[in-house]
Amino acid sequence: MKRQLSISTLMATNTLTKIAVPGCLADSLWYPQTSGVSDWTLRWIGVMSIIAWYFVCCSWHDLGRVWRHVWLGVCAFAGTLSVVQVQQGQTPPGIHADTVMSLLFVLWFGGNALNAWRGRRCPDGSVQLSFPLRHGSYMVVQGGSTSSVNYHRRHPLQTYAMDVVKVNRWGRRCRGLFPSQVERYFIYGDPVYSPCAGQVVHAEGNIKDPPAPHTDHVNPAGNHVVIQSDGCRVVLAHPRCGSVRVAPGDRVLPGQIVGEVGNSGNSTEPHLHVHAEVYRDDLKRYVGVPIRFNGRFFVRNSVVHAGTTDRILTFGSRRKSAER
Ligand SMILES: [Zn+2]
Repeated sequence: MKRQLSISTLMATNTLTKIAVPGCLADSLWYPQTSGVSDWTLRWIGVMSIIAWYFVCCSWHDLGRVWRHVWLGVCAFAGTLSVVQVQQGQTPPGIHADTVMSLLFVLWFGGNALNAWRGRRCPDGSVQLSFPLRHGSYMVVQGGSTSSVNYHRRHPLQTYAMDVVKVNRWGRRCRGLFPSQVERYFIYGDPVYSPCAGQVVHAEGNIKDPPAPHTDHVNPAGNHVVIQSDGCRVVLAHPRCGSVRVAPGDRVLPGQIVGEVGNSGNSTEPHLHVHAEVYRDDLKRYVGVPIRFNGRFFVRNSVVHAGTTDRILTFGSRRKSAER
């Protein structure tokens, strides 16, 4: 219970900072208290580095994806208009605390934002799969090729793993902010389709779905399906208890339903985890490989509008998705 409370507190704090910090930054640009253009310029770059960090490094599935665009626009607008308020006088000589802070912000936040931007690049050796969800708009919470956008990077098998939630038209993934009832998350119960042809080599489906944000560290993968495909092994994790429809030895085709999205295992809220592994003869073990879904490489905050056929899978623009 104590651990659950601390996770809830952490998540609530994280969400709160996405409102409070950009708001304070916009305010600091709107009312510049610097004594010269050079100080103001450095502050502007420092603030925009922090906003860029929020834009690309933070996942906006809790508040709604639209908010990251709102804050980027508000800060750019406030900063641009505040030019007229800046005194044209000379900046007093010497090193100011304000200037040092701005420089540190540029280095740390700007550096991490650049690292997140690099995470959009798909490294060589990717495998091609079809997207495993097909009933609406889905947002990538963890995904990409750098640690700034994908916390899975610390696990060798999951280097390029993705965590996906379902979002509504406002980019929100549930009714409420952090509901404990898993049914209030839009993705809960969505069918999970096999992303490839192959043979099921592992399947587990009887692990209970705890309420959010409770996690099951004893069974981190929770319910899961592992499919041995041509050249790679695909893992789909956290299906709903009792929903897994395949067993080891079954052959599956792309688009075949293998289970439903749930919250089993090490999962703070309902989502689908997917990653691919290949066996490296030189290393004598499996390693994670990048995945392209229908040719696309998705990163944190990517939105996939997916219908019942791969043909209408789109990225970045909304098209009418087929109803379930
Ligand atoms: Zn994951």
